[in-house]
Amino acid sequence: MIYELVVGLETHVELSTKSKIFCGCTTAFKGEPNTHCCPICIGLPGTMPRLNEGVVQYAVAAGLALNCKIAEFSKMDRKNYVYPDLPKAYQISQHDKPLCYEGHVLLSNGRKIGIERIHIEEDAGKLIHQGGATFIDYNRGGVPLIEIVSKPDFRDVEEVVEYLELLQLTMRYIEVSDCKMQEGSLRCDVNVSVMPKGSSKFGIRTEIKNMNSFNNIRKAVQYEMNRQIDILESGGAVTQQTMRYMADVGVTEPMRGKEDAHDYRYFKEPDLVNIYVSKEQVECIASKMPELFSSKLNRYVNEYRIPLEDARLLAEYKNVAKFFEDSVKCARSEQSYKNCANLILSVIFSKFNSEEEKEIFNISVSSEEMFKLLSLQEEKKISNNMAKKTLEKMLETGSKVFDIISEADLQGVSEDRLLEICNLALNENEKAAKDYASGKDRAIKSLIGFVMKQTKGRADAALAERILKDIIAERKF
Ligand code: ADP
Ligand code: MG
Ligand code: ZN
Repeated sequence: MIYELVVGLETHVELSTKSKIFCGCTTAFKGEPNTHCCPICIGLPGTMPRLNEGVVQYAVAAGLALNCKIAEFSKMDRKNYVYPDLPKAYQISQHDKPLCYEGHVLLSNGRKIGIERIHIEEDAGKLIHQGGATFIDYNRGGVPLIEIVSKPDFRDVEEVVEYLELLQLTMRYIEVSDCKMQEGSLRCDVNVSVMPKGSSKFGIRTEIKNMNSFNNIRKAVQYEMNRQIDILESGGAVTQQTMRYMADVGVTEPMRGKEDAHDYRYFKEPDLVNIYVSKEQVECIASKMPELFSSKLNRYVNEYRIPLEDARLLAEYKNVAKFFEDSVKCARSEQSYKNCANLILSVIFSKFNSEEEKEIFNISVSSEEMFKLLSLQEEKKISNNMAKKTLEKMLETGSKVFDIISEADLQGVSEDRLLEICNLALNENEKAAKDYASGKDRAIKSLIGFVMKQTKGRADAALAERILKDIIAERKF
C-alpha cells in the first residue's frame, strides 16, 4: 500500500517584548541563572499577574501577518500540570477563546496551510541536566509566547520546513520575535500521521515534542512516518502518544510525565481580566505593519524582473531589502534593478561571514552612492567589472563613488579601440583561440581576461566576449 504523510504543527514563538508577560522582569536571553525573576514569574503564592499590553499588540501583529481574524474578546486560562519547570503548577495560557483564529500561509507550490489559532501564553523555566543532577533556571519563566497551531495540512516534510522558514521571516519582519531556533525562540511540536494515499480519513497521530532544527525535523518525521507505516503494514494500530526525538541515535521514543497527561483541567484565570481588542486597535496595529516578505518577493519578481532565487535572497532580511529598494528608487531600467541585485548578492554579500551579519547589514555605502554607481553602469560609462571593483573599494574604505572613479575611467573604451584590443588578444593567445574554436568554451575566459587587463578593467566584458567570439568565428582558428 502507498501511504501519504499528514503533518500538523504547534509552533511556539518567543515574543521580543522587553519585559515578561505578567511582570516587569527582563526577557533578555542569557544572563546568570535565576537573575531575571521575581515572585510573580516564579509563581509564589499571593502574587498577582498583570497582562503586558505589548504582548497582545505583538500577537495581534503576528495574527494579521498570518492572515488571521482577531477576536474582539478573548481570555486567559489556567492549564494545570505539575512539573518543576513551573512551580505554581499551572501555566497561564488561552484555551477556548484564543486571540487569533482562521489564518493561513501560502506555500510556493501554491498550497495553502491553514492556521487554526494563535494564542498567547507564558513560557516555563528550563531544566538543565548535568552530571546526574538537574538544575532549574527560571529566567525563561514568564517570557511571552505565541503558539501558532496549524491545521493538519502538510503532506510533505519540505512543506513543513518552508512554512517554518516563512514564519521565521515573517515574525522577524514585523519585529515580534527573532525566531532563533538555536536559542529556542522558535520551537515546534510536530504531529505526524499516515493514511493510504488518496484517502480523506486521517490516521492516528503521534506528537513529536520540542523540535528545534530543520534537519532534525526532516529526520524525525521521516523516521516516524516509516515507523507508523511498519506498524500498519504488519496489521497493528498506531497508538496516539507524545514522542521525543533522540537526535543522537535518530529515533523517536514515547515520553512519559507531564507531556502525556492530557487532562489539564483548564479553567478561566481568575486573577486576570478579559481581553478586548477593538476594531480600531486592530486597524492601528495593521497600519503600522511593514510590507511583508511575500509581498516584497512578488514585487521583486514581477515589477523588477529579478529571478525568483535572487529575489528571495534580497527580500529575506528587511535591511537588505530596504537598501535594495532605496538604491533603485530612482533607477529607470530593468537592467539597473538587475545590476543592483547582482552587486548586492555578489560583492556586498561576500563581505559577510554569517546570516546575522547579513541581517544587520552594516555597510559603509549609502543607497545614494549605490544609485550613483548604478547610474554610471546603466549609462555604460563604466563596465560591470569596473562597477564591482569600485563597490569593493567603497565597502573597504568608505569612500564615495567619485573618490574612486576618475575622469579617465569614465571615458570608457570605444568600440573601435575594443576591437583593436580583441584582435591583439587573439594574436597573442592563439592557443586559447584555437581551444575555444575546438569547443573548449572556458578558453574564452582567458581572452576576456587579457582584454580587461589591457583596458585596466574599463572595457565592457560582455561586449568584449561577443567581439572575441565573432572574430574567432570569422577568422576560422
Ligand atoms: P491537542 O490539543 O490534543 O494537541 P489538536 O486537535 O489541537 O490536539 O491538534 C494539535 C495539532 O495536531 C494541530 O496542529 C493539528 O493540525 C494536528 N493534527 C490533528 N490531527 C492530526 C492528524 N491526524 N495527523 C497529523 N496531525 C494532526
Ligand atoms: Mg498538542
Ligand atoms: Zn518576574
